[in-house]
Amino acid sequence: MVKEAYICEECSLIYADKGVAEKCEAWCRKTKSCNIQIIKKAIGKLIKC
Ligand SMILES: [Zn+2]
Repeated sequence: MVKEAYICEECSLIYADKGVAEKCEAWCRKTKSCNIQIIKKAIGKLIKC
């Protein structure tokens, strides 16, 4: 069974929550860096940040 996941296209972090993934993407686009408060909610990662 495949769980639904959302990927931040900017940093490739994987989130189970779409809202959090969108928040991460908005943050990444704006700041070009990672927000620890957001990335700690990630469930996985495709590539290194
Ligand atoms: Zn991101």
